[in-house]
Amino acid sequence: MTPFTATDFPGLLAAVVFVQGCPWRCGYCHNTHLQPRTRHAAVTWQDVMHLVSRRVGLIDGVVFSGGEPTSDPGLAPAIGDIRRLDFKVGMHSAGTHPRRFERVLPLLDWVGFDVKAPFEAYERVTRVRDSGEPARRSLEALLASGVDFECRTTAHPSLLSEQELLALARTLAAMGVTRYALQIFRKQGSRDAALNAVGVSGYPSQATIERIRALFQSFDIRRG
Ligand code: SF4
Repeated sequence: MTPFTATDFPGLLAAVVFVQGCPWRCGYCHNTHLQPRTRHAAVTWQDVMHLVSRRVGLIDGVVFSGGEPTSDPGLAPAIGDIRRLDFKVGMHSAGTHPRRFERVLPLLDWVGFDVKAPFEAYERVTRVRDSGEPARRSLEALLASGVDFECRTTAHPSLLSEQELLALARTLAAMGVTRYALQIFRKQGSRDAALNAVGVSGYPSQATIERIRALFQSFDIRRG
């Protein structure tokens, strides 16, 4: 748990709860220690609630991150506990579990939704077959829900060519996404030697960035 952040929930001061478990194995994952779900968590839910309840009046919201929060069957009641303290609730998700994702949407104020790649090419990033389909279903549910959200993609030249970045952006814009960010790969935290060995300076080109920017009401490029 991170007790205080000004960058993980747009416009709000928030705490971040990192939930164990993710079925995917992205090479650039910064939280590989959270991929397995263990029987006993390092921090119990009671500990989280104790810490969060002491921050009433100091923070505005709580963000569920991970790992992948929707991999936890206890997500909805946990969000309910936080809401009862009158906090806004956000979630970072890649949409691995569309049914649970859809169920918790009415409980959320904001979602940061990770889009890994064009949906037909997800396996290249997640290393899990057919992972694009649950992601697509989750994004469709998010779009239909009316919940405020941003889509973001971690970009690395070995995983996504500039043409694929542009094609992905066009797909998202056509689906109705209005807020998008490219997060350029950072070596810090990545354990993938092959990805780490490739430089990302000059990627993507300014021309590609401007073509992507033109597709959205709001677009950010995040480096470092
Ligand atoms: S989906 Fe997120 S948590 Fe899961 S492996 Fe990929 S980067 Fe890590």
